Amino acid sequence: MNRFSWYHYSEVLIMQMIVNLKDKSYPILIEQGAILDIKKIIDTDRKIAIISDEQVPEYLIGIIKSQCPNHFVLRFPQGETSKNFQQYEELLRKCIEHDMTRKDAIVAIGGGVTGDLAGFVAASYMRGIDFYNIPTTLLAQVDSSVGGKVAIDVDSYKNIIGAFHQPKAVLIDPNILSTLSRRQIHNGLVESLKMGLTCDVQLVELFEQDTLDIPQIIERSINVKRQVVEQDEKESGLRKILNFGHTIGHAIEGAYGLDSYLHGECVAMGMLFFIEDQPLKERVLSIYKRLDLPKVPDYDIDILMSYIQHDKKSSAQTVSIVKVRQAGTFEIEEMTYEQIRNVLERGPYEK
Ligand code: NAD
Ligand code: ZN
Repeated sequence: MNRFSWYHYSEVLIMQMIVNLKDKSYPILIEQGAILDIKKIIDTDRKIAIISDEQVPEYLIGIIKSQCPNHFVLRFPQGETSKNFQQYEELLRKCIEHDMTRKDAIVAIGGGVTGDLAGFVAASYMRGIDFYNIPTTLLAQVDSSVGGKVAIDVDSYKNIIGAFHQPKAVLIDPNILSTLSRRQIHNGLVESLKMGLTCDVQLVELFEQDTLDIPQIIERSINVKRQVVEQDEKESGLRKILNFGHTIGHAIEGAYGLDSYLHGECVAMGMLFFIEDQPLKERVLSIYKRLDLPKVPDYDIDILMSYIQHDKKSSAQTVSIVKVRQAGTFEIEEMTYEQIRNVLERGPYEK
């Protein structure tokens, strides 16, 4: 059970969804306690590489190990900086050393970093082997574990090398969030709020209840993500809405984030610039206050613009920007760099 009094866990939640992608369709199981019986959804009758960062609680690794008769465990240092070429190569070499075959599988247990890195190993080892994701952070449970985007970073280019490699199944157990810090939980909630603001007004309303019903929030967020991915698996159109807040958010993260802010905190800042309705912005700001999210720092426009201009999502002259005028709806607009500069000059809180 979670130790923070203003979270609540709905009685029992058992929910299975299918991400419908024809021959790449896969189930997502959301269930409290699901981690105790992974066979429900994971074929463990083969060699399993369990990949996790070193800060994922040991007991979780133990639970997975005990259910995989033929396994080996690979751990790597926690944090975004592990999403790099060297770590990626190291994990691949370990898979070779352990004679992994095309029939074997990788199970990622951890946050978005673990999922992105282990998923990219699975995508490229022998041109792609089965990949299962057991997300253990709220951010990964509401967002990154579903959708098949796997990647590593190169220098300050985030997710610049990667693949689309859908998991075989995703197992979400909300109970395992109990060891996560309050700040990490709130960080992940930002990605949920993002999905609510663009696609699901009732999800936004869940943030305005007296207590936060975490399993409900996970379920609604995953449902939004599932639908978006089903309609646009490879981000040629609709999937861009998941980048709401990320253009300026990534720039703040690159310029000021490394030691000071988490990814979700930067996305929260980035969304403010493109909420086009003042009453809605006030509403969102009161949610931010409840989540203790940091204020947008003083920023240097030229520095942020240099990050925006080298973000891989920028096409030559314009950037696709997601704007929200009314909760649960979105618009995608192509903006020039000059227009984005004007937005930065106007600031995030402008009335
Ligand atoms: P993370 O994976 O670094 O996890 C945060 C910290 O929590 C780590 O130190 C980790 O060891 C620890 N941790 C994990 N589970 C825990 C638990 N149950 N209890 C206690 N500690 C635990 O960070 P994150 O916020 O989960 O993910 C961020 C990453 O996700 C970024 O690299 C981002 O690019 C990526 N991402 C990917 C997608 C996608 O679609 N692939 C979407 C959004 C974000
Ligand atoms: Zn994000």
